[in-house]
Amino acid sequence: MGVREKGVGIVAETDIEEGTLLWTEKPLYSSIARQLPDGEYSDLACEACGSYCGTLQLQLKLFGGSVSYTEACKTLASGEDSEIKELMKKPALPGVSEVDCILTDGAPLVLAVGDGHVVFCGQSCRKGWEDANKSLLKDGKLQKVRQIMVDEDLEYLGLAAALKNGAEASAGAGLDALCGDKYHKCIDRDGHEELSDEEWEKECMRPCEKLAGVMGMAPSEVSEIMGKLCRNSIMVTFTSPVFEYLAGVSGLKNKDTPEFADLMSLVRPVASKSKSTNKEPDSASESESEPEAKLELADGVVLTDKDVPPYAGWAVYPLLSAVNHACKPNLDTEFLQGDSTLSVLAKRKILKGQELTICYADPDDDQPERQAALRSYGFVCGCDLCGQELRAIAGPPAKKARARA
Ligand SMILES: [Zn+2]
Ligand SMILES: [Zn+2]
Repeated sequence: MGVREKGVGIVAETDIEEGTLLWTEKPLYSSIARQLPDGEYSDLACEACGSYCGTLQLQLKLFGGSVSYTEACKTLASGEDSEIKELMKKPALPGVSEVDCILTDGAPLVLAVGDGHVVFCGQSCRKGWEDANKSLLKDGKLQKVRQIMVDEDLEYLGLAAALKNGAEASAGAGLDALCGDKYHKCIDRDGHEELSDEEWEKECMRPCEKLAGVMGMAPSEVSEIMGKLCRNSIMVTFTSPVFEYLAGVSGLKNKDTPEFADLMSLVRPVASKSKSTNKEPDSASESESEPEAKLELADGVVLTDKDVPPYAGWAVYPLLSAVNHACKPNLDTEFLQGDSTLSVLAKRKILKGQELTICYADPDDDQPERQAALRSYGFVCGCDLCGQELRAIAGPPAKKARARA
């Protein structure tokens, strides 16, 4: 059902209890940014669905640096049985079945693309991805797109190329249905206030022009797709199954076993590798942020979610894209299946006729920051919460302090 004067909007047609799973959704297209040529990934995840490939053992070797991403891919692609067996040697920890240690059904597949490699969890993901990327795979286009992504440090470019490409096949209608504007109108201009409108537009057109050159499109068309992506992409992030597994291991009562010692021999290099990298001066403030989760596995062996980071990528979900914003939304979005499948749940009880909402900004921010973040969506939020907070900010200081507490 449509909602007047806003985006498409979705309204509850019946009462919904808190915690109800409303729908699950696969992305229209997810990021191809994870295959950047100069950055070796520390984990092997399926390009199409984001699920982790191989075994825990192999992932730990990658995290610890004893096997490089390229080496692991080459070995998997070579089909050399003995090497694969060695790489994927199953752990057999007390209380953990061998099956639980294998991260995917069947053997992962690897596709060589130029100097790089693309990993898939199985045949169906590979087939779907190859179908949608048919024209990108011709004439080295994919490598060129990846190079522009690296040069411009812009993951959306890969997504734009893939979407345009998929638009010739199945994703076309989905792309057309997304709302958006020209790219420069859809991105946050924070930190670039010194540029005039014309300079800003020119700045934003540069990556669009590069991509247009490779894809044989008009730069304005790329700008439109990029705008749609900025309005509709969400970050896909879920805990690494390796981290979840190790969290289970950290709680084991009996750690005095040869199996545990074996596992620690793989875990130790992961823990010490990150400690040595952290010592280097780092200008990027985001990589200095504190880890959120910490595991004490053995004496002196502490792993954090910086050592074994969560999966992170970008994706567009057509149905979620139709949901409007509220600063105090009634929907929760989560990645519960260990891949890029999105689960949408009711955050609280929703009554028939109420609109379903998600928060486009960080709901923990104060009203002015939220409004700033929402500017690139082209609207000023007039939700109940924003109204209340505006009144509180306009009131006496004591009242303001209470309102924020
Ligand atoms: Zn997959
Ligand atoms: Zn609001």
